[in-house]
Amino acid sequence: TTAPANVFAEGWLKRVYEEKPVKNVRTRFPPEPNGFLHIGHAKAIAVNFGFAKHHNGVCFLRYDDTNPAKEEEIYFTSILDIVKWLGFEPYKVTYSSDHFDKLYELAEELIRRDGAYVCHCSREEVNRQRGGPDNRAPRYACEHRTRPIEESLTEFRAMRDGKYKAGEAYLRMKQSLTDPNEGNPQMWDLPAYRVVEKNHHHRTGDRWKIYPTYDFTHCLVDAFEEISHSMCTTEFQQSRVSYDWLLEKLDYKVAKSEEKGPMQREYGRLNVTGTILSKRRIQMLVEGTTVEKKNEDGTVSTRTIPPSVRNWDDPRLYTLVALRRRGIPAQALLSFVEGLGVTDALTEIQTLRLENAIRKHLERTVPRQMLILDPIKVIIEDMTPDDEAELTIPYDPKGTIPGERKVAFGREVYIDRSDFREEDSLDYFRLAPNKVVGLYNVAFPICATSFSKDENGKVTQIKAVKASGEKPKTYIQWVDVATAVPVTARQYFPLFKTDSPNALDWKSGGWADDLNPNSEIVYDNAVIERGLEGLRKEHESKPSGASDDLVRFQALRTGYFCIDPVDSKDGKVVLNQIVSLREDKAK
Ligand code: ATP
Ligand code: MG
Ligand code: MG
Repeated sequence: TTAPANVFAEGWLKRVYEEKPVKNVRTRFPPEPNGFLHIGHAKAIAVNFGFAKHHNGVCFLRYDDTNPAKEEEIYFTSILDIVKWLGFEPYKVTYSSDHFDKLYELAEELIRRDGAYVCHCSREEVNRQRGGPDNRAPRYACEHRTRPIEESLTEFRAMRDGKYKAGEAYLRMKQSLTDPNEGNPQMWDLPAYRVVEKNHHHRTGDRWKIYPTYDFTHCLVDAFEEISHSMCTTEFQQSRVSYDWLLEKLDYKVAKSEEKGPMQREYGRLNVTGTILSKRRIQMLVEGTTVEKKNEDGTVSTRTIPPSVRNWDDPRLYTLVALRRRGIPAQALLSFVEGLGVTDALTEIQTLRLENAIRKHLERTVPRQMLILDPIKVIIEDMTPDDEAELTIPYDPKGTIPGERKVAFGREVYIDRSDFREEDSLDYFRLAPNKVVGLYNVAFPICATSFSKDENGKVTQIKAVKASGEKPKTYIQWVDVATAVPVTARQYFPLFKTDSPNALDWKSGGWADDLNPNSEIVYDNAVIERGLEGLRKEHESKPSGASDDLVRFQALRTGYFCIDPVDSKDGKVVLNQIVSLREDKAK
């Protein structure tokens, strides 16, 4: 593969810069603190922080906290954490709410300039004014649109002072509602301020009963923070006109010019199919849900669906906290996202494509270990103390990853159940009665002589002898019994049986019937070679571009794993499989 081109130095992002080639580039990443970030947000972070970095500028992390009912402390903390995990340091952490006073003043100013009016129409009435359900009926103004400026000012202050309940009054921008030639719904007198019932705000407390809308807030805060390039996703394309309209009305921008004030441009979202990214849907997976279904006879039945994952950072999810916990290296994720490129088109990828990129990255960066998921003990009966050894094995047989470790080898070893068959066959090359197989890095192969089973017919132990003569066809992995470290290993598979879970029935709970019962496989009795502690130290002294301190390794012939940072405690190690070794692993 060729070296990835610098996405900031060419194409769409280059053109965005050339449209406004300023010396002091200032960008912002403006999440609403109402949920955990997902993989799509990694693109927004890469674009905004990366663009600033490329041009030696600065990027703000701005919490767009204008919707108090949905905001919680944990999201604020988690978002900053994830930005840093991806390797970026915000120039400043700011909040839209920092500017509530100034925004309010500007709302009054807008009224004074005849650019806004207080309206008391119902939502249904406003929809009719805007051309009805399909926006095609003639648009018209209500009587509030032409009320005297002084009256709007008085009413806006009354809104502020709590005279109105939610829905009883809005401040609306006086845009082009009545211009029959204005085809852009973003110009049909959008709300600027609304009364909010559950109005206790995380930062401003009980001070405000009215809150500004996105359309009023975003462009103005961009202007306050002197953002040069305000990049957002294409669903805001139509908003560009209202963005500029408001800035021009309040003298933050000059019509048809990008010299003064911020410039909004829109890039395509990153969408990942094969998983669920919608907050509401993930919430159903995390918390479970009860759905009501109308039956044909008019009765209503309820169905309770239990949680299907443990938390928002469950490694099966594609939230960024989940991907981090699963062991995806930040650097790998970031280069993957950048490598997809940035244009104004939607980028849609399958989860498999991300997994492939992660696999490629890990192959070059992490040490090898022998991990046995489902162990059977093998006793090599004719081994003498002389045959016992402390082997020195490189972390990577190809030598790409430097270093080596000492591995004990004794008379008893564990092999994986999948490497043994009770009956041999011609097309089978691993261990079976009277069959010779090699053990990785051990001087001699072994040959199975007999085995025993428990009452359920499960093989419990194998007896073997040293084999001499010809070189074995196959080598299998093993772990020395005397020094083995018990671990719990978890493997992850898709959450849903279908490749398109977004197309499932999310209204009446049908999605729950498509859940993959084997999305997590837990091996409670797995063993790994001694020395995970050493691996941890080794890793810390030689970071592989990761900006976390997770311990990652390739388990030979199994997959890539990391030590779960939360569930590993009291001396018991829990491993998460990051990705399988090869793509074709069954679901
Ligand atoms: P969601 O509804 O999926 O949570 P959002 O747009 O409500 O997303 P915000 O918190 O507003 O989330 O997002 C912050 C920034 O991230 C915005 O600029 C938004 O455009 C961008 N963003 C959100 N989702 C994606 C995505 N899938 N791809 C690229 N950028 C995204
Ligand atoms: Mg949003
Ligand atoms: Mg949203």
